[in-house]
Amino acid sequence: MSRIFTLLFVLVSISVSAQLQSPADYLGYELGTEFSRHADVVDYFEHVAEQSDMVIYNSYGKTNERRPLTYAIVSSPKNLANIENIRKDNLKNAGLESGSASPQVAIVWLSYNVHGNEASSTEAAMNTVYKLITEKKAWLENTVVIMDPCVNPDGRDRYVNWYNQVKSTPYDKKQVAAEHSEPWPGGRANHYLFDLNRDWAWATQVESQQRLKIYNQWMPHVHVDFHEQGINNPYYFAPAVEPYHEIISDFQREFQVSIGKNHAKYFDREGWLFFTRESFDLLYPSYGDTYPMFMGAIGMTYEQAGHGRAGLGIMNDDGFELTLIDRVAHHTTTGLSTIEMASLNATKLNTEFKKFFQNGNLKYKSYVLKGNSDKVNALTQLLDKHEIKYGFSNGGSVNGFSYAQNGTSSMNAAGALVVSTNQPKGKMVKALFEQDAKLSDPLTYDITAWSVPYAYGLDCIASTSLVSANGSNPAFKQINQVAPSSIAGYIVPWNSMSDAVFLSELLQNDIRVRFSEKDLSFNGKKFNKGSLVITKSDNRTNNEFMATVTKIANKNSRDLYVTTTSFSDNGFDFGSSNIKMVPKNRIAVLKGSGTSSLSYGAIWHFFETQLKYPITSIDTDDFSVRSLKDFQVLIIPNGYYGRVLTDDALGDLRTWIRSGGKVIAVGRALSSFVGKDGFSIARNEDPSDDSDDSDDSEDSEDTDNATDDDKLIPYDQRERNGVKDLITGSIYKVTLDASHPMAFGYDDSYFSLKLGGSSYKFLENGYNVGYMKGDAISVSGFSGDEAKAGLSNSMIFGEERMGSGSMVYMVDDVLFRSFWENGKLFLVNSLFFVNSNVAGL
Ligand SMILES: [Zn+2]
Repeated sequence: MSRIFTLLFVLVSISVSAQLQSPADYLGYELGTEFSRHADVVDYFEHVAEQSDMVIYNSYGKTNERRPLTYAIVSSPKNLANIENIRKDNLKNAGLESGSASPQVAIVWLSYNVHGNEASSTEAAMNTVYKLITEKKAWLENTVVIMDPCVNPDGRDRYVNWYNQVKSTPYDKKQVAAEHSEPWPGGRANHYLFDLNRDWAWATQVESQQRLKIYNQWMPHVHVDFHEQGINNPYYFAPAVEPYHEIISDFQREFQVSIGKNHAKYFDREGWLFFTRESFDLLYPSYGDTYPMFMGAIGMTYEQAGHGRAGLGIMNDDGFELTLIDRVAHHTTTGLSTIEMASLNATKLNTEFKKFFQNGNLKYKSYVLKGNSDKVNALTQLLDKHEIKYGFSNGGSVNGFSYAQNGTSSMNAAGALVVSTNQPKGKMVKALFEQDAKLSDPLTYDITAWSVPYAYGLDCIASTSLVSANGSNPAFKQINQVAPSSIAGYIVPWNSMSDAVFLSELLQNDIRVRFSEKDLSFNGKKFNKGSLVITKSDNRTNNEFMATVTKIANKNSRDLYVTTTSFSDNGFDFGSSNIKMVPKNRIAVLKGSGTSSLSYGAIWHFFETQLKYPITSIDTDDFSVRSLKDFQVLIIPNGYYGRVLTDDALGDLRTWIRSGGKVIAVGRALSSFVGKDGFSIARNEDPSDDSDDSDDSEDSEDTDNATDDDKLIPYDQRERNGVKDLITGSIYKVTLDASHPMAFGYDDSYFSLKLGGSSYKFLENGYNVGYMKGDAISVSGFSGDEAKAGLSNSMIFGEERMGSGSMVYMVDDVLFRSFWENGKLFLVNSLFFVNSNVAGL
């Protein structure tokens, strides 16, 4: 008998422990009383999926720091048994897959914790899934909920691990307490310090790239991006503020209001404050609300008070204690309320979703693009990420709006890339490709220009008639070169980042490479300035020279032009002093307090994942000019360096430059050199809006610079009037000195993304490589009249020689969010070609 009792006891205890547990029972603490580590959150969702027949839990990849990226599919058991058909029917309804369907199931996607230090929402995700499958099952009869419990696990754990290490027990609610002051760079961004809520459209980060694959499989009807804002704000939910992008439909606008009113009902019942319609617009396509909007969903941002300051509890300025428990409750409420509204309107959501993808009335039917084949390939890779269709033209002339001419023109379309709007994702094509987004209000939260043809450096004609595209990609080639028996050297043209990656790999394989400062001609073939010259003579001690170069060229799809003589057609032979050695420079980059984490992160990501060339990052706290003795190049990211670049340090830096060092200063870092002994950079006027990182915080700040007239503007018109000083990311035409090595690979003009109104005079003692002479020409985006006028006669890129070394000034940050593909070669040129006489060999 006793054995049977024992057996029975074991069976009972197994069945008890195997039941679905609440987050509190599973984790061992009430939600909101601790911050949960990402691994614990994953464990809880796995537990839920094991115990419930309403949850499927999958991984969609890994972060840079190898944490899992995951999503749960939550619905009724009946729907889950049929989930693949539900998914496909939705794509058929939108025309994204062949066949027809009239689905009735709503699809809601909830994205939590995209900003790592806005950490209440991942806690709310656990609460929400539990309530959904225990208390709100009825909604799941006609609704599928996709939950991504943490979009940014690396950022979340950076915040949570730090907080758990430093918090007092019990927590200290005083604002001044150390647990409310995150150290640089904070937990907001991902591993490479990119803001993932600015990366949806560009998908430069592994989190975005892997998420978009799943997103495209599902294409939800409603998408919520959960955030947090400053501790003194009440809760924000949709409807959003103007400007809305014009492709957003009336239904999308209306349904945001319906959802907002449903939230309001619950918030009013509890006595919780909220606001709507005063902030967070819907224009820039790369957010977690706009991107889904442009893909047919109701995309929304929800903002809880909290953020990296709030910890488990903090006293706000109004004298109320803001607790994590409350933050979790609010985000849980809006998440559930959203699902409720989707369930109540499932049929309508499906019929309106279908309508969104019918694009017959868009003005431009085709965007036709031509240019360097590497740049075309880079753009097709972007289109592939969004599963946007494209083709190549068989030929013929195309008329329409020319991006380069900023007016009507024509193009021979033979071989051109054609992206048309007569496809389901045509509205996203319009949003990405159109020259200038229509702006109903210039007071926006983000940049107002991003036009892809300019970003990728391609000629583009927007045509009002459909251009056929059944040709093949002329750039596609299989390269399988074999090493020749005898050569004088190789020549490779210099046009694109693909060429730069090739150079980087050669240098790291100890191949000695030259570049030409003159146009070359060999055996009747012409090569532009900047072309790489790889001579047998320079590599004569390397027996593997030809095999290595051939292998690296094949790997990078680079055509090697082989010449058996170094005797040129036009006088510049391989031994010419105009064909200079590329130095294998050792590069230092400043990071840490003072630097913009976004700017540093973009540089870090660029070198590690794009150029694949080593850098050494030096913390500003540890930096002294002495530490540069082993380096040839110092990159100073956008930032404020008053504490680091003191007059003494600048004196030392000048000495280092004069002895052959090169400093590349980006964005606001330039202001550290203005008016300093030995540096000739000067501002055109007083600094106006110099903020180009409105995305460093949840609240964008418009700087007000009061002139005399401004002082008489009424109280309630101040913000509106500030618009005239504002540039919020717009595209300007820049003239280039194409004979300068910094501009090799470019023509004599370039379209630059300007992020603010900072304006610098032409260098008096230096080379003005990129500049705007006379009135500045803006082709896209919003610029206030005064800010635009301030840009006339200003330098954009410049080099100042000092002794044997150089200062390189980059007013515009070409690595901003890593999406301005056509600007990146300026940085590579600056690293390796500009003043290359001092070689770090
Ligand atoms: Zn946020």
